[in-house]
Amino acid sequence: MTSITELGVAAIRDGVKAGSFSAREAAQAYIGAVEAGRPLNAFVVETPEHALAAADAADADRAAGTLKPLSGVPLGIKDLFCTKGVQTTAGSRILEGYKPVYESTVSGNLFAAGAGMLGKLNMDEFAMGSSNETSAYGNVLSPWRRNDGGNVALTPGGSSGGSASAVAARLAPGVTGTDTGGSIRQPAAFTGITGIKPTYGRCSRWGIVAFASSLDQAGPMARDVRDCAILLEAMAGFDPKDATSLDLPVPNWEAALSSDIRGKRIGIPKEYRIDGVPAEIDAVWEQGIARMRDAGAEIVEVSLPHTKYALPAYYIIAPAEASSNLARYDGVRYGLRVQPEQGGLNDMYEATRAAGFGAEVKRRIMIGTYVLSAGFYDAYFNQAQKVRALIARDFDAVFQDVDLLLTPTAPSAAFGLGEKLADPIAMYLNDVFAVPASLAGLPAISVPAGLDGQGLPLGLQLIGRALDEQSVLNAALAFEERAGFTHRAEAWW
Ligand code: GLN
Repeated sequence: MTSITELGVAAIRDGVKAGSFSAREAAQAYIGAVEAGRPLNAFVVETPEHALAAADAADADRAAGTLKPLSGVPLGIKDLFCTKGVQTTAGSRILEGYKPVYESTVSGNLFAAGAGMLGKLNMDEFAMGSSNETSAYGNVLSPWRRNDGGNVALTPGGSSGGSASAVAARLAPGVTGTDTGGSIRQPAAFTGITGIKPTYGRCSRWGIVAFASSLDQAGPMARDVRDCAILLEAMAGFDPKDATSLDLPVPNWEAALSSDIRGKRIGIPKEYRIDGVPAEIDAVWEQGIARMRDAGAEIVEVSLPHTKYALPAYYIIAPAEASSNLARYDGVRYGLRVQPEQGGLNDMYEATRAAGFGAEVKRRIMIGTYVLSAGFYDAYFNQAQKVRALIARDFDAVFQDVDLLLTPTAPSAAFGLGEKLADPIAMYLNDVFAVPASLAGLPAISVPAGLDGQGLPLGLQLIGRALDEQSVLNAALAFEERAGFTHRAEAWW
């Protein structure tokens, strides 16, 4: 029999159901992989007892004929999701030791569907970053290496870097991620896996540590499109505890999966052809366009004229919301408290926040408070909000004519650790193709598309109309079937 860690979400679910192996065997196989994968630093907390308890429940459910949609599937959970009684740090020192007394809606939905938890996944601090280097718990390593024999340590992307690395290295069949401005899609692209950010409001934000509330969305990352559809179906759903949750039924995305995309109109936004992007990315994009045409889609050049303002608008809006959301970490209610020997309450706040937040988080708080300050609110925050509306309007206009958009996911392949850390602007540029869909709240997926000259994965992004995850998944499936991407990182850990 193939090793169970070769099996993804659907295959484990089906194998447990068919009795090919027990849920306990599946959990044990993945617990072993998590242990063996420690050099990658993908997990900050391991919870084998949680995975085994869920597995035993799944085996009992099988005997009783009451299997659930994810019975027997062990998952990794990004450390941004509050997990009851299990340390949740959001990658930050300030939350070290924090054990929530409640479960996030999304992780709770997954567990209610029968899934178990292998552990909590490392991430950029408060999900701010594109390389996982801002984590207070050390960077995650990508399982991938360049083919030049140089063994340079590469980033798995961020902020869901632990999530991406765990899936790519076969430490978990599937994981949760969150995406505020690309944090599911960019790490998926960097590690040769698939990840979808659904329409804003599909997944409840309740119990997800807040970064930028008008942008934050949870979504799955897994080895293929079907596994993402299965996980998203379990994660999504209306939640009265989140005021922005959409009160809509969750479609049966898996059941309706179809790679027949004949007649679909796919737009190619000309503003996504930007200078300085490696030729290999253009080549993979061109090849992707040809594949979609091959699948019977009609390819149309379209224009999203405000695209170039998306990144600057994002890096005003996201820090503004973050500066407000992060005000709650004051040393009183959660995690770290640093009480200076001299001084009162304000000194305690200052000392706690100075010691508890890393450099990137401090930068965002400073930018955020600046753009929200009385003198600059109109010039920056208000202006960015107007730009955001124009970007959403651009999408509305093109979606009158086309069903989907196809673009690169990120402007480069995975880079080496340390290469961009000293230059925040270079780091922010990673998100150039990801943030427009975030600002407009649209569903978007990244699928592995090919390798660059250094043997590293490149991804393509499909963006759909609001609430039309089905078309996004279907087109991604059509692409996946034609791309036949079977490359994977060779185990060195
Ligand atoms: N890299 C982007 C940022 O740093 C996006 C992060 C995210 O989506 N959580 O803000």
